[in-house]
This record gives sequence, structure tokens and C-alpha cells, in this order.
Amino acid sequence: MATPQAQSLVLSFEDARRMVEDHAAHLSPGAIESAGLLLSAGRVLAETIHADRDIPPFDRSTRDGYAVRAADLEALPARLKVIGEIKAGPLPGDSPRKLVPGEAFSIMTGAPVPQGADAVVMVEYTVSRGDHVEITKSVAPGENIVAQGAEARSGSVVLDRGTRLNESVIALAASVGRSQLQVFSRPLVAVLTTGDEIVDVDARIAPTQIRNSNSYSLAAQIQQAGGEPVLLPIAPDEPRRLRELIEQGLRSDLLLMTGGVSMGRYDLVEQVLADLGAEFFFTGAKIQPGRPAVFGRVSPAAIQRYFFGLPGNPVSTMVTFELFARPVMEALAGMPPHPLTFLHARLKSEIRVKPGFKRFLPALLSGKYESSQVELMPWQGSGDITARSRSNCLIVIPSDREHIPAGEWIAVMPR
Ligand code: AMP
Ligand code: MG
Repeated sequence: MATPQAQSLVLSFEDARRMVEDHAAHLSPGAIESAGLLLSAGRVLAETIHADRDIPPFDRSTRDGYAVRAADLEALPARLKVIGEIKAGPLPGDSPRKLVPGEAFSIMTGAPVPQGADAVVMVEYTVSRGDHVEITKSVAPGENIVAQGAEARSGSVVLDRGTRLNESVIALAASVGRSQLQVFSRPLVAVLTTGDEIVDVDARIAPTQIRNSNSYSLAAQIQQAGGEPVLLPIAPDEPRRLRELIEQGLRSDLLLMTGGVSMGRYDLVEQVLADLGAEFFFTGAKIQPGRPAVFGRVSPAAIQRYFFGLPGNPVSTMVTFELFARPVMEALAGMPPHPLTFLHARLKSEIRVKPGFKRFLPALLSGKYESSQVELMPWQGSGDITARSRSNCLIVIPSDREHIPAGEWIAVMPR
């Protein structure tokens, strides 16, 4: 059995992550296509979007109440003459006359504030008395009004190229009249699972065989990150077939492999990649789970293709995708780089671990409102998808910590 020729390059988590980010920063997205607004969630904008008119397009009342001149409410209660009603969406012909001192318009939320008025009093502070209104609270000029163009000026940039389309971005695109958007095509991400013991989910299974779960968890993560998974057949721990499938996977924009990157005699992935002339940027990271993760690049037929060899243990596969593969995928999808961010929560029960590895361990975030607490899930190690599925976050333990007492604030990755 050949021993891997790839030099062992085990980096700290921070160095490994920086390595990935540095390479991702030089990647460009693929082709541009058009997407309808309704099916655009998760896509990445390939164009800059401008406001087609001021936002809001007129001075907009944010309350149901009365449009007034703030100066008329200095002495309370004030009694103003009601000269009409303005609802949302009046036509140009309905445009109300200018308000003069001593007058008010009844006005609805979302309606245009009439000329002469400079504030809106909430209906709660008023009593209607026939053709007059009695007002019991004063207002400052501008109160309960969003001025025309206050959110954005006509022609200004409201969305940058590279923005991921989430619900608020989609709402903004809709509000400036864009039902079709230019988006980047989804990168094709090949998924190659390796291992003689691994079989398809639907296959008849022998007692010592293991169903392929990694291809499916990766496919879900790829889709969620804006890519399109391409599932390859399961590769046996045999160099010829493995090489064939790796070559096939290198035709996609990115290749993710799982399994076969540890120190076992049948862990052949690195060897086969080395035979293909791969460059390795790291062949391990000081993390748990996920220590054997591999990142590198091959240049078949003068095109450069990045690959990740993710460890086969299912939780390691998922965690290393999030930590390392995601930034490369997002760059190929057209998103500008952004740093990994953590939340913080109070630790419910103490943690004791051996130092030397940065750990990302399944945990449960619980509690209400500001009193969130987090605690480790009992688990059987990097293969324990049952514990991972019951968890709702990962606790991040710095590599130099041996003991973290209960009550300390600790970094958490949600999900
Ligand atoms: P390896 O990284 O190849 O040494 O595999 C580590 C562990 O993960 C072994 O117990 C494998 O059976 C398991 N494993 C590898 N690939 C998969 C997969 N696609 N689905 C589920 N378990 C896997
Ligand atoms: Mg294996």
C-alpha cells in the first residue's frame, strides 16, 4: 500500500480558515442569469439595484390619526377643525388642499401627509367632536411622518452586486419595481463519498455496512449556501476507481470528498490527488471534530479546481463544510467574503477538555429572551448524528482552554 506523498500540513484553525478565505477572495462567480422574484430566495445578485423613485415616494404617515401643524398643539387640549380625510393611495385628482392654522385632516397609516401639515397625532390621543377634533397630546414637527426620500433617494444604489437574496432584499427589489433580477448561476459542487462500507440509502444493507448520509447532508448544506450539488457514485477504497471518480468530480466548479483522509491504510484520497498533481494548502487542522480535513487545488487541463477532502465521520463532514468549504462555495456563488461570526451565551454546566484543539461541539441553546444558556450535548464523538440532530448549535472552545466554569460567556455557532 502506498503511503500518502502529500506532506503533512496541519494548521491551527485560524490559519486554516485564513488560508481558505485568502483563496476564496480570488475566485470569481460563473455566468449571469435571470431569476423571477418568487424563486430568487438564496440567489446572489449579479447587478446593482437602484431606487426607481424616492423611498418613501411621498411624506408618509406612519399612524392612523390626524395630520396637523405641530405649532397648533402648544396649548392642550387643542381643538382643530377637521377638513377632510386622507386614506392610503389617493389618486392625483383627490389631492387634498393645503392645511392652514387651526385645521386638521383625518389621516390613515400609509397615506400622504397633506401640504401645510408637519406632524401626525395618533388617533389614541384624540376625541372626535362632529366637525372638530380635540387633541390631548402635543407632537414634535416630523413626528409620525417618514419624509419623502428619507430611506433612499431616486436613482441611488439600494442593493449591491453580490448581495444574497433574503426576504428583506427581495422586499426591497419588489418595492423598486424589479420582478426579474440578474443573478449569478449556482456553482456546481461535486460530492464524492468514499468507503468500501458505504452503500446507497435504498440499497439492501449488510450488518456491517453503513448508509451514505454524508452525500445528503452535504447536498443540503450546498443548496443552503447557494450551490447546486452533483452527487457522484460512491467510491470504493481502491485507487483506480477512486481516481476516475475524482477526475469526474473535478469537472464541477468545486469538489467535495468525504472519507478516506485519515491515517488508515485504506485512506487513499490524498494519495490519488497527489498522483493527479494536486497542491495541498493543508492536510489537517487542529480542530475537533474534523482534524483530518484537507484543502487543495488541482489544475486539470489548465483550469484550476479547488477540492476539500472532508473527514468521513458525519458530524466532522458537516462541521468542516461550515468552517472551510462554505467560504469557497460562497465566493463561487458571487458573494463577497465575510468573516465567521459567533453568538455568545452563558454556559450552563462546566466544560473540561484536553487543550490543543479548537472544538466545535454539539450543544443545546435554551432559555427565554435575554437569559439564553448553552450546554454541551452528551455525545459519542464525531460520528454521532443523533446527538447533532438534537442539538441546535455548536459550542466553540478555544484550543488553550482546559476548564470553562459554568456561568462564563462562551462563543456559539447557531444551528
Ligand atoms: P473515514 O473518514 O473514511 O475514516 O470514515 C470515518 C467514519 O465515517 C467511518 O465510521 C465511516 O464508516 C463513516 N463514514 C464515512 N463516509 C460516510 C458516509 N458517506 N455516510 C456515513 N458515514 C460515513
Ligand atoms: Mg473510509
